Amino acid sequence: MNAEILINSAYILASILFIIGLKMLGRQGTARRGNLLSGVGMLIAIVVTLLDQQVIEYQWIIVGLVAGTVIGLACARSVAMTAMPEMVALLNGFGGLASLIVGAAEFLRIRGGTVVPEDPVFTATVTYLTILIGGITFTGSIYALCKLAEWLSGRAITFGGQHIVNGLMLIATLVAGVVYVVAGDPQTVLLAFAVFTVLSLVLGWTLVMPIGGGDMPVVISMLNSLSGIAACAAGFIIRNNVLVVAGCLVGTSGLILTAIMCKAMNRSLAHVLFSGFGSAPPAATAGGEGVIQGELKPISAEDTFAVLEAARQVVIIPGYGMAVSQAQHIVRELAEMLERNGAEVRFAIHPVAGRMPGHMNVLLAEASVPYEQLVEMDAVNPVMPTMDVAIVIGANDVVNPAATSDKSSPIYGMPIINAHEARTVICLKRGKGTGFSGLENQLFLLPNTRMLYGDAKASLQGVVAEFKSLGV
Ligand code: NAP
Repeated sequence: MNAEILINSAYILASILFIIGLKMLGRQGTARRGNLLSGVGMLIAIVVTLLDQQVIEYQWIIVGLVAGTVIGLACARSVAMTAMPEMVALLNGFGGLASLIVGAAEFLRIRGGTVVPEDPVFTATVTYLTILIGGITFTGSIYALCKLAEWLSGRAITFGGQHIVNGLMLIATLVAGVVYVVAGDPQTVLLAFAVFTVLSLVLGWTLVMPIGGGDMPVVISMLNSLSGIAACAAGFIIRNNVLVVAGCLVGTSGLILTAIMCKAMNRSLAHVLFSGFGSAPPAATAGGEGVIQGELKPISAEDTFAVLEAARQVVIIPGYGMAVSQAQHIVRELAEMLERNGAEVRFAIHPVAGRMPGHMNVLLAEASVPYEQLVEMDAVNPVMPTMDVAIVIGANDVVNPAATSDKSSPIYGMPIINAHEARTVICLKRGKGTGFSGLENQLFLLPNTRMLYGDAKASLQGVVAEFKSLGV
């Protein structure tokens, strides 16, 4: 059998493993094995690529492998679970940067005259697309990272004529791309290459800038998709079939996730990209919409126990604060105690709770909360008025009633978990901190709401200790 057939057969096997692995990631019970299977597929793809006779020398590949392994291992060991969303954004960005570098290397190779491409128009087009999409993904992801890490404001940053400026830059990038593909003069080609490379990097930053607040999950999944599309285009440049397939898989699954996130936010993608949603909250006018009224009513761990002890229907609503305090294990313990005490317990998961898609599901799975106890927003809202207690653990934006009732709110229209409809609401948070979108929350001031202040894990430990003291 000739080497090419062997290599392509191994690539097909790797691709099949990716697809089966991806499918298995969709269920909690099979996710670990799915991850392993995809990893085996990637190992096969790497080994076979290294054996490819087109590789002329290995020293730089080895340097890259060693450096990547050392950095990857160090990150895996040192990055805190709470910093995973930032890590994911960074890896997305590096995916885009890697594709951009492949495109730039191809440009330099052809410019250096060492190779003449078989199909110059096709090669130039995919090189352009790789750099354009890779550049936007890189700087866009870095901006998203800065927002997630709170190095930059999570709010949308908007200014007059922003969309026109972005539109003009996009047009200039497209024109430079066309010039790059059709021009013959080396100077013109170099100029076009420089223009679209720089503009793609600027565009990544400026396109994410006017998106903020609750719309960030959509942007993050879209950047994830773009990193796959850039890798796919890079696969065409280096004519590597498995990179094309893997890039397509990342690109399409990212697109599906983007569609799910848009649905969860009740917004179209165009609205997310161009509306400037999540910029500064409107000033509240006396007596008008947007005015937050009422008082915060603290509750102790002992009194929280008394309320929960009598409850028969309990819904737990986790949010980003649960991730910060790493309270998932003690939450599971509390849920088990409530069940032993005769209550029915549900976990209501908002699709954008936390800081990355599936954030709450991952944490609760880590704590071995049974999958059957997790309920989606659409399923829990109709039964919310029958809940004796809703325990809100470090969630804020995803339970903000302004989204359903206050037309002047920037999050108006975003579906929320209707915690405020439960008979009693107990909110766990450290103080008066706002959520990611920086908005005040009327839920905390409602007559049926009590505030259990403190780090969520410590507060829950206090409540669990009360249950234990009664031998539950
Ligand atoms: P959130 O609105 O960000 O609110 C988190 C709350 O947790 C804060 O009000 C904070 O109040 C509290 N908190 C923080 N640390 C705590 C601790 N150690 N113990 C107890 N409470 C703590 O969270 P969310 O309701 O989950 O909403 C997620 C937001 O992030 C949405 O706006 C979403 O659009 C956005 N976002 C999501 C993703 C995604 O993919 N899921 C990505 C990017 C952005 P205190 O400071 O007073 O404690």
